[in-house]
Amino acid sequence: MKYLLLFIVVIVALMLHKKNRSSQQVSQERPKAQGLSAPEPMHACTRCGVNVPASRCVWDAQQRPYCCAEHARQG
Ligand SMILES: [Zn+2]
Repeated sequence: MKYLLLFIVVIVALMLHKKNRSSQQVSQERPKAQGLSAPEPMHACTRCGVNVPASRCVWDAQQRPYCCAEHARQG
């Protein structure tokens, strides 16, 4: 009878542990989804054609997008 009680306590403890772990996983995933930045337009580099996010483009005097300063200088 003593062992049956111990067995039940162990099972309940394991169930609570499992439940806590699964709820932690859910709460860890949510900030990731919220942390995603909004989509931004892509521009193809005028020199090599690589697509670059608008915020990381290098623009020349004619407002043409480049992937880097090196390609902007080469034209
Ligand atoms: Zn380029």
